[in-house]
Amino acid sequence: MTTPSSTTIIDGKAAAAALRADVAKGAISFTGKQGRRPGLAVILVGNDPASEVYVGSKVRLTREAEMKSFEYRLPADTPEAELLALVRRLNADDLVDGILVQLPLPRHIDSGKVILAIDPAKDVDGLHPENAGRLMAGLPGLVPCTPLGSMLLIESVRKDIAGLNAVVIGRSVLVGKPIAQMLLAANATVTMAHSRTQDLPAVCRGADILVAAVGVPELVRGDWVKPGAIVIDVGINRLPPAEGAGKGRLVGDVAYEEARAVAGAITPVPGGVGPMTIACLLQNTLTAARRRMGEPA
Ligand code: NAP
Repeated sequence: MTTPSSTTIIDGKAAAAALRADVAKGAISFTGKQGRRPGLAVILVGNDPASEVYVGSKVRLTREAEMKSFEYRLPADTPEAELLALVRRLNADDLVDGILVQLPLPRHIDSGKVILAIDPAKDVDGLHPENAGRLMAGLPGLVPCTPLGSMLLIESVRKDIAGLNAVVIGRSVLVGKPIAQMLLAANATVTMAHSRTQDLPAVCRGADILVAAVGVPELVRGDWVKPGAIVIDVGINRLPPAEGAGKGRLVGDVAYEEARAVAGAITPVPGGVGPMTIACLLQNTLTAARRRMGEPA
């Protein structure tokens, strides 16, 4: 199927590269004024292979963005108290502006407790309840990276979304709820859909902006999409491998080929929202550093 000439394929890779370059410029200027680079501490507990890959990329891209990376790799059986003590040390460390604890944590550690222990001013994942509350109250804070990246991609194709109907499928604390708050703050009329929503296809057909953050491969079909809509696919799902093949294909929560035939703009998977997540983590680190030093963020 060919893409209709009017459909914009939103290039998340290019947008993320541009954002990282901007952050690097900001980091150089910060270093010039403060005499030290903005610092991001990343903690990985255990050796979950996917988490190892994410942490490796975060460390590499932090350095490429002219920031200081502090890396902590702890064994899977690290006691919760030891992890909490490390977080408290990093809270008190003036060279550390951002703290990220890679999730999921091993089962014996209460991730809620760990998130609560992070200084909200250094909570670059935006998961601390104080930051969630600030987002809801319209106060400056740190917002979760994937929803922030999704919003930037929406703004890249449509600056003013006031009055548009936005439907967010998924209500997680990590993605669905924060993106709904950001859309609301930008004056969209927001509907939050979830697993109990009745007649989801009809709800989606009313969306000028449709955000899918579900975790169900290709749930959103082409005939759920309003012609001309902006479709943001947050989902990352790996299909089972075809016989004889190594890894299965990565797909989003949207049936891409069908949806792009109808949408006005759409993010691909991979290469859409995914690359924006780390770029926004770096932006949040720079924002946290500037605020901590009293610079305009
Ligand atoms: P999650 O915590 O599992 O939440 C999924 C949400 O989808 C829930 O609110 C759930 O509803 C809803 N849902 C599930 N099945 C549904 C259905 N059939 N119809 C309508 N709603 C349904 O997932 P998440 O952490 O938000 O992640 C969502 C997706 O985004 C996943 O594919 C994940 O891999 C991806 N993700 C990508 C990035 C990135 O960097 N691009 C980052 C984070 C997550 P209930 O609340 O009613 O259960």
